[in-house]
Amino acid sequence: MHRKKVLVTGSSRGIGRACALAFAQAGYHVFINCRNSLDRLNALEREILNLGGTCTKVPGDVGNPDEVRRIFRVISEAGASPATDDPGVPGGLDIPDGLDVLVNNAGISHFGLLSDMSDEEWRTVMDTNLSSAFYCCREALPYMVTRKQGRIINISSMWGVAGASCEAAYSASKAGLNGLTQALAKELAPSNVQVNAIACGVIDTEMNARLDEEERNALREEIPAGRFGTPEEAAKLALMLAEAPGYLTGQIIRMDGGLI
Ligand code: NDP
Repeated sequence: MHRKKVLVTGSSRGIGRACALAFAQAGYHVFINCRNSLDRLNALEREILNLGGTCTKVPGDVGNPDEVRRIFRVISEAGASPATDDPGVPGGLDIPDGLDVLVNNAGISHFGLLSDMSDEEWRTVMDTNLSSAFYCCREALPYMVTRKQGRIINISSMWGVAGASCEAAYSASKAGLNGLTQALAKELAPSNVQVNAIACGVIDTEMNARLDEEERNALREEIPAGRFGTPEEAAKLALMLAEAPGYLTGQIIRMDGGLI
């Protein structure tokens, strides 16, 4: 049986972890990734196996193009060359194995005045949140385009749409990710590869750990839905986009409880 394959970058915790579990439960082989938290990646692997799913760990910094190339070498070797009965491969072409779905999720926040930000901090935000998506798309696309089938899902932010005070670099990186989504969707539509983004609102993950209880309550009051979103909700939408009609592409879908 052809088990579809997905890479979820930054899947040791939060939204990425929820995506990895959702795709595994839906029958995908999941390539799980993070940069530092290898113990958590091992725990996620066990959890996926306990669910009856399959996965491969591909740790590495997706903000580094050499590490992304190395991750994709593992992906291309994981399933050897595609079987000739693979319905997605016309004539059983002898091409390296690749992904059906790429979820560009890895990301970091940076809070502070722009005037206090160092060159290094700016570069790290851009590399992690935006360049990572370019590096991963560049590696994933040859296989998808050859098969004329593939989905790219970028985990973006409402701040990439609206802009947030004291999060200028983060907002710029996510606005860039939205631009990449819309442009790449046009470039790839003739190849039947769909590119969409989820512009998340406040999702209850460790990324928001810097907020104290008072700040959390104040923020909650601003959200029309009256609560934070859950990683599982974001994962559910990512899986829906992976399975959505092929005519849906280039969309920045806001999932923010009505906040913006
Ligand atoms: P978390 O901080 O909970 O998780 C981030 C994940 O990304 C971790 O697995 C982390 O692994 C990984 N990661 C960070 N840098 C790299 C890197 N260079 N290479 C590989 N993996 C990396 O964040 P969330 O789950 O909250 O966020 C996930 C995505 O959703 C991000 O892109 C974020 O911007 C976006 N988002 C989140 C919102 C929220 O409110 N939570 C709102 C809007 C968007 P490790 O620790 O090992 O580096």
